[in-house]
Amino acid sequence: MQATEQATKEITQQAWSKRPLIISGPCSAETEEQVIQTAQRLAATGRVDMLRAGIWKPRTKPGMFEGVGTKGLPWLQHAKKLTGLPTTVEVATGKQVQDALTFDVDVLWIGARTTVNPFSVQELADALRGVDVPVLIKNPINPDLELWSGAVERVARAGVKQIGLIHRGFSTYGNTEYRNAPMWHLAIEMKLRNPGMMMINDPSHICGRREILQEVAQRAIDLDYDGLMIESHIDPDNAWSDAKQQVTPERLKEMLEAIIWRKEDIPSDEYHAALEKLRQQINQLDDELMQILGQRMKVAELIGNYKRVNNITILQTSRWNEIIERAFLKGDKLGLSKEFITKYFDAVHMESINHQKKIMDS
Ligand code: PEP
Ligand code: MN
Repeated sequence: MQATEQATKEITQQAWSKRPLIISGPCSAETEEQVIQTAQRLAATGRVDMLRAGIWKPRTKPGMFEGVGTKGLPWLQHAKKLTGLPTTVEVATGKQVQDALTFDVDVLWIGARTTVNPFSVQELADALRGVDVPVLIKNPINPDLELWSGAVERVARAGVKQIGLIHRGFSTYGNTEYRNAPMWHLAIEMKLRNPGMMMINDPSHICGRREILQEVAQRAIDLDYDGLMIESHIDPDNAWSDAKQQVTPERLKEMLEAIIWRKEDIPSDEYHAALEKLRQQINQLDDELMQILGQRMKVAELIGNYKRVNNITILQTSRWNEIIERAFLKGDKLGLSKEFITKYFDAVHMESINHQKKIMDS
């Protein structure tokens, strides 16, 4: 290995293990000038660890700008030489992996539209066999953790040692406040399934518009994400792709400075003692909730008995609506959201129905 190659590997390793890891750069590489200027202005912020740029763009409809292709790779190489920033690009085929590596791209990422397709992921995994390069895997566009896990497994089985996750939200039908619904609970579940694996957040593709980037980025940091990937452009409004969600490098710097960076823990006995006391209260309350839920199911079984001997259906819509309406009223006074009440009562109701069904079948 050449000395310079060794040095960039070390810089990439340093960036990979930095917390928070900040990756930024344009949605798409457009021209050499744009890539280099973006990289230089990002480097000048002193807050960015890695340069991203899309070279091959998977676009929803034909006729849209599909990326400059391989000719953009030397631009990234040049930008790295000028700024020292390691580079990362999205790859979707085995050929793209080879091309990216030929031009010394330091970290590869698998896009959301590729993670959904096991054939494509396997092709990438095969191209990555024996290659010592870190890989970031975005969540699939549909909210399916098995697909996301499957992609991680395919890449890991190919021998890739350094794998990270990117949460970029999930497609939904119709207009919502987001371009891609974050569904935070899914990313949290993925984090719990893969302890120790880096999870970074991509507010740009979740938001789809720059006005709400800040709050989503803060939310991710509050949830102990390891870093952020945020798109930036020297002239966001005229970007060739994703114009609405990009920000200038200087705006990115302001955003990063406004974020309250939280840690998972601090070495303070006082803090730990106070937290421990409150956690014991939570444990106690959780125990009581379980006791009460158990009792509730016993009562539901008694009702089930009456229904059984009188040949009455388990489900009675009017009664259920009455329960939910009561809960909304009470819950509102207790500061519980309608969304939570609905989810909670749906779960309790399903469990009650299952208990009553057992009685019916007995
Ligand atoms: C991108 O990062 O520019 C991109 C295409 O993202 P995603 O795969 O999340 O849609
Ligand atoms: Mn984009």
